[in-house]
Amino acid sequence: MNALIFGAPGSGKGTYGPRLQEKLGVDLVAMGDIFRAIQKDGSHLGEKIRGYMQAGLLVPDEIVIEVLKNCLFQIPPGRGFILDGFPRNIAQAQALDKIVKIDVVLQLIVNERIIIERLSTRRICRECGDVYNIRSLKPKTEGVCDRCGGQLYQRQDDNPQVIKIRLNLYERQTSPLVRYYKLKKVPFVVHRTESIEVPPDEVVSYFIAELKKLHLA
Ligand code: AMP
Repeated sequence: MNALIFGAPGSGKGTYGPRLQEKLGVDLVAMGDIFRAIQKDGSHLGEKIRGYMQAGLLVPDEIVIEVLKNCLFQIPPGRGFILDGFPRNIAQAQALDKIVKIDVVLQLIVNERIIIERLSTRRICRECGDVYNIRSLKPKTEGVCDRCGGQLYQRQDDNPQVIKIRLNLYERQTSPLVRYYKLKKVPFVVHRTESIEVPPDEVVSYFIAELKKLHLA
């Protein structure tokens, strides 16, 4: 099964993606995580990417598509994957269509008030990328990842000014992809969140049950 996990920044893609990956036994390709890892290697490409990410802007398509191709080609044939953070515009979706077939879109709909609250209180593990929230999804020990013991940090782009830019970009460039995939008749599984406190396992179980109905899990 090849799935997209799709939603605005802060809709929970980074929380549900790894949990779904584990349960479904597929690969997870999270573009934002890949770019954060590239930045750590100190390369020229890493520096270039950092500028876009810090400003909340999209990394240029030619870079993103090249990085994505390298990741997808490493997945063993038939294993399947969940793609998080790609595509983010129509040109990227068209490039993806030339590489693989997408079987389903897992869409997260969360209202903007919750998104802003979630992003400004979000914490990420430096080591494994696990996502926490100092209000709604606290680690057992403050500042420490439950899963691997890594240090938690706040992303530089999770500040109010950059959050605004990212949400705006999502509305203008990424949300039209819903129509794009609907026109292509790709099945959607939609989850709506009305509260910041929804337990992640509840959402994951919902997606798995719906994927079973579609014979994709
Ligand atoms: P994320 O972790 O998905 O919120 O992504 C963080 C940042 O990485 C975004 O704000 C962009 O700067 C960059 N990024 C991630 N995925 C893409 C993509 N598909 N196209 C362009 N930029 C991306």
